[in-house]
Amino acid sequence: MSDAPLIIGGGPAGSAVAIHLARAGARPLLIERQVETGDALCGGFLSWRTLARLDDLSIDINGLGAQPIHRVRLFARDRITEAKLPAQGAGLSRKTLDSALLEAAGRAGAQVLRGISAIEAAPGRVRLSDGTMREPASLFLATGKRDLRGLPRPASRDADPELGLRWRLSVDGNRAALVGDAIELFLFEGGYVGLLMQEDGRINACAAVRKSRLAEADGRPETLLARWADASPALAARIGSVIPPADAIGAVPYGWRCRVGAPGLFRLGDQAAVIPSLAGEGMGIALASATLAAAAWQRKGANGAPAFQQALARATARPLAVAGLIKQLGTRSAQTASLLVALAGLPGAARLAARLTRI
Ligand SMILES: Cc1cc2nc3c(=O)[nH]c(=O)nc-3n(C[C@H](O)[C@H](O)[C@H](O)COP(=O)(O)OP(=O)(O)OC[C@H]3O[C@@H](n4cnc5c(N)ncnc54)[C@H](O)[C@@H]3O)c2cc1C
Repeated sequence: MSDAPLIIGGGPAGSAVAIHLARAGARPLLIERQVETGDALCGGFLSWRTLARLDDLSIDINGLGAQPIHRVRLFARDRITEAKLPAQGAGLSRKTLDSALLEAAGRAGAQVLRGISAIEAAPGRVRLSDGTMREPASLFLATGKRDLRGLPRPASRDADPELGLRWRLSVDGNRAALVGDAIELFLFEGGYVGLLMQEDGRINACAAVRKSRLAEADGRPETLLARWADASPALAARIGSVIPPADAIGAVPYGWRCRVGAPGLFRLGDQAAVIPSLAGEGMGIALASATLAAAAWQRKGANGAPAFQQALARATARPLAVAGLIKQLGTRSAQTASLLVALAGLPGAARLAARLTRI
């Protein structure tokens, strides 16, 4: 059995825990399946809490060109509500953010192996794609959306699962100005699409949608977005007439959280808790889970895992519940979406919701 912590996955959770562990004097090994950092399907919104955590990790998001985000705008039918965020957030592509975090992990002293996957795990053992077997005392599972054979999250029992879609829209200055310094959420029956300006001057349009709604659009993301734009002139004005092909991911287990841990296994990020994406706090949870896990490991080593997992489950309970309620109301029907947008217009309501959905 090896004392060096093994981290599987080099997304925000895996890179962040690698930095914390290396700073604490460990020499963690991080395995990332991708040779080149991709642009993960994500809304790209960094909340003010996420920004504080990135600062702790010495990530200079202004130096990376992040777009400042000061307000949230909600749209349902012809209703619009705009509110200031409790504090400044930011828009940054995942390619830029994930690259910076993984580089920082290497600089901090973590050993980073790229282009190698974990194939399967059993208690205390992990088989890698290069044919080797690792036997770490402490395994940090940060594979995000992908489950690792042997350590899966429970299968979703949702008969109509939610999918993630993303379009990167090249826009002219006028359309960019419409989005400006806001995170914009357009609510529809069965799903939503969020718009955000990123550092490359493009609009990142990211959607979560029930499979049945996509099926009604012949299974074609472009058709779905075009239909949503037909129903919302404000959305149409922003996306223009050319809709590029979408990236897509399968069933996202929104609302799931790991409540019981096992010695030696630290579940991080989406492998620990999956917040509805319209809250824009998934990366916050990824980074917070990394901080908590590294602190627990420093205190008690591999035996710190169960208490860590329970503490994280407690910390994520409220944000997941509040985000789940907002999602329910915002995407159940056109009427409930209009109601949500009207409620968000009440003094202080949107800011309160923004606060309650943070970890
Ligand atoms: C539609 C949508 C919109 C979202 N919008 C936002 C938003 O605006 N703001 C926000 O904060 N959050 C948002 N999120 C959530 C956010 O994307 C996730 O919570 C976050 O990416 C979780 O980080 P992670 O490090 O746990 O996992 P990931 O980011 O998924 O990283 C996992 C890493 O592990 C690697 N990996 C996977 N399997 C293996 C393996 N077997 N071996 C080796 N490596 C492996 C992958 O290549 C990847 O690099 C959104 C999510 C969705 C679905």
